[in-house]
Order: sequence, then structure tokens, then C-alpha cells
Amino acid sequence: MHPTGTLIWYYYICPREVWLMSRHLTPWQENPFIEIGRLISKESYQRDRKEIRLENIVIDLLKTEGENVVIGEVKKSSRFEKSARMQLAFYLWKLNHLGIEATGKLLFPREKKKITVMLTKEIEDELEEAQQKIISIVQMETPPPARRIKFCSKCGYQEFCWS
Ligand code: SF4
Repeated sequence: MHPTGTLIWYYYICPREVWLMSRHLTPWQENPFIEIGRLISKESYQRDRKEIRLENIVIDLLKTEGENVVIGEVKKSSRFEKSARMQLAFYLWKLNHLGIEATGKLLFPREKKKITVMLTKEIEDELEEAQQKIISIVQMETPPPARRIKFCSKCGYQEFCWS
């Protein structure tokens, strides 16, 4: 299996969620936080919007600034910045393997905040390791144990863990 950007994002939040997603268990779609995320992603940065699908990745925004290719990922909050950084770095890494050098911008429209993400050797190594770990989690027969974290209250899988 090939980890997706979404699995990278969840891996840095909750490995149990990676396993649940890999079993095609659908998170509760009416969770208001999922809906808010969708709306922000749809309505922000319309001018630059150009969603790109490449192999197993979906890039929210793509534009050029002079010679540079810039890709953007829109998030509703910077609370899980590490996850967001690694997801965007994963897209940069994938593009890099296709011969495209790009810079990443994490966009937090509600906070009016932008963070630049560049691919470095350390980040590439970390991504390799994360992908191996995701593959191991997906191959587990049962999910990793539930651990209460700050994301649980916003997670579409709450009922699988805490009911
Ligand atoms: S509810 Fe919490 S423990 Fe369960 S999958 Fe979601 S984030 Fe992970």
C-alpha cells in the first residue's frame, strides 16, 4: 500500500485513526468539525484555487511565483501544525520524485496565518520512517489502543473509541 497525505496527517495525530481509515470505516460525516474544515477549504483562497490530483495525493492549491512552483494546503487551525507540516512536506516529496521542485505554504485562513514549508534531508528521512510505520499500522490485525488526546473531541471516530 502507498500511504496518502491524509494518512500522514492522521499518523501524526493518532495512529489508531490511521488503522480505522485504512479499513474504510467512514468517520461520522456530520461531525461539525469535519464540516467546518470542508467549508473553510472550499471557500478560502478561491482566486488561487486549482486542486491537483496526482497519483494518491490531492493538492489544495498550486500556483507559480516567477520560476517557483508553490503548493498550498488549507487548514482550519494551526493547532495540529506538525501534522499539517508533514502532510505538505509529503506532497513536496512526492512532487520531487516526479522531478518538480516546489515550495509549500500552509494556509490558516481563520487565523490569517501562512507558514512556508521546505523539503530538507531531515524531513525526507522522517517521512520515510513515517511511511514505514503507517504500513506497519495498516498491517496490524487490530487497531492500536485508543488514547485520549486533545483531538478526540473533534474526531469522527469517537464512537469507535469511547462509547
Ligand atoms: S477518538 Fe481519539 S483515540 Fe479514537 S481514533 Fe479519534 S483521535 Fe484516535
